[in-house]
Amino acid sequence: MKPKVAFFDFTSCEGCQLEALNLTAEEVLALVDAVDIVNFREAITERADNYDIAFVEGSISRESEIARIKKIRDQAKIVVAFGACACIGGVNCLKNHMPMEEALKIVYCKDAKYYDTIPARPINAVIKVDHYIRGCPPVTAELLKVIKALLLGKKPDILNHPVCVECKMAGNVCVFERAMTCLGPVTRAGCGAICVNSGRHCWGCRGLVDDPNVDSEKEVLKKYGLTVDQVVEKFKIYNTYAEVAK
Ligand code: SF4
Ligand code: SF4
Ligand code: SF4
Repeated sequence: MKPKVAFFDFTSCEGCQLEALNLTAEEVLALVDAVDIVNFREAITERADNYDIAFVEGSISRESEIARIKKIRDQAKIVVAFGACACIGGVNCLKNHMPMEEALKIVYCKDAKYYDTIPARPINAVIKVDHYIRGCPPVTAELLKVIKALLLGKKPDILNHPVCVECKMAGNVCVFERAMTCLGPVTRAGCGAICVNSGRHCWGCRGLVDDPNVDSEKEVLKKYGLTVDQVVEKFKIYNTYAEVAK
């Protein structure tokens, strides 16, 4: 019997699921050979409630989503948080800096009364999560790595070193040398430092490494005459939930 796999979306742009659909034809064939995909709104019309592994995209930002995610947890043997919104709250948590009534008014104006919202949160604030596939969006290689490990009954081997390591290996000149700031020293690797490779800096979409070396980040800032506040502004984009929960 092949394991039954389902993909679900909560508050999100659904870019993580789109990224999953970016697998190559060979990868898709290998995947459908190994698992039965029984629920994936962006890709198939079937909807089944019996699944073993649930990949959950998006954060929780409405009361009704709490009951829904708990139901998924009750059904699935394994729950995988898929993408930054699900893993760390991500961009949806930016609204947590203001009262919810204000956020509703900004978005829906006079129709705000028809909608409900609660402070956004990652799914592990509501249910137990077994594994994480990080990033906004995640890289497909990591999705495949996690699926492969789960099929073998192993714990996925997730990197726990900073993006700087991959950035240096890619041969980039550090953006601090160009008077920019970067969250690479405290952000979990796994993306290959894709943003820096493309001429930008790291925004921290993969969340923090365990035990981030904050002192080292501060030393780098000091060396380049930058302030902690300049970095905190960038940190807020994806990591507001962790910051507000402190
Ligand atoms: S993690 Fe990024 S790509 Fe995925 S749903 Fe959230 S905003 Fe969209
Ligand atoms: S701080 Fe940013 S640009 Fe510099 S090495 Fe680290 S990831 Fe690369
Ligand atoms: S470089 Fe940083 S912001 Fe860009 S994908 Fe990697 S972790 Fe995310």
